[in-house]
Amino acid sequence: MAEQPTSTPGPVDAISVRDVTRHYRRPRTSLRHPSPPVHALRGVSLAISPGERFGIVGESGCGKSTLLRIMAGLDRPTSGSVAIDGRDITGLRERRLRFVRERLQLVFQDPMSALDPRMRVGDIVAEPLVAQGHRNRKERVAELLEAVGLGAEAADRYPHQFSGGQRQRISIARALAPRPKVLVADEPVSALDVSVRAQVLNLLADLVDELSLTLVFVSHDLSVVRHVCDRVAVMHDGQIVETGSTEQVYEEPEHSYTRRLIAAVPTLGRALSGVSAADLNREYRP
Ligand code: ADP
Ligand code: MG
Repeated sequence: MAEQPTSTPGPVDAISVRDVTRHYRRPRTSLRHPSPPVHALRGVSLAISPGERFGIVGESGCGKSTLLRIMAGLDRPTSGSVAIDGRDITGLRERRLRFVRERLQLVFQDPMSALDPRMRVGDIVAEPLVAQGHRNRKERVAELLEAVGLGAEAADRYPHQFSGGQRQRISIARALAPRPKVLVADEPVSALDVSVRAQVLNLLADLVDELSLTLVFVSHDLSVVRHVCDRVAVMHDGQIVETGSTEQVYEEPEHSYTRRLIAAVPTLGRALSGVSAADLNREYRP
């Protein structure tokens, strides 16, 4: 369901997405007929307020990552528009997108492929600071590594010397380096061992709180979104089928698709304990 614009003028939305579509061309497999396009997003609208923790949930392939890339200015919509802090970024060229990079940073699913294995952790975290011409980089890097619970000595080591959870902490430190206002996390704990998921989630939630960040958090896993978000949009097949407070969507889901997603999580207590829906499904389905 699309968000209705409110009649009372409030603060400017941190992110606003208006009627966005994104079609991908598939490689041609026939000489006579072009392949039909993939409709990854089909008219998505949403508005995220400053300081909100906004979840986007839906099955694999429903368009979550495509939507995030478009929000972050890393990809362009086929139609529709995106504004960050009220500024339309839809048609901006790379050079003009710098303000988006400063305001909005991303954390991805797989920390190993997101980190350059030949670089020391200190240089990885400092990279966005170099781009900004930051002066006291060493101190700032130490402060960031402390903030994510790794300690300043991590700076001299390489990514392969850390566990998956620790590498995701390095990614988080780097994302926070340029002091963004918005953190966009695409399945940030999905590649991690179940045992460390809750720790990394709690760290993210604590940092978002402490730094008063806006969080956009994507997961195929409802229990994870429930753990960190105040509001949630449910995506299905390139569209948002339902949006509401996390509480409302989980307690009184309106859309049949949402009810099916929730039914996949057998008990609330376990869902909140950091065990993923995928793990639960594995247990409950032979
Ligand atoms: P999700 O993150 O929810 O798993 P994605 O946004 O990655 O979904 O993908 C949505 C749909 O778009 C899928 O059908 C996917 O195969 C397709 N898709 C994504 N990126 C591309 C691309 N670069 N080229 C062609 N199809 C793509
Ligand atoms: Mg994805």
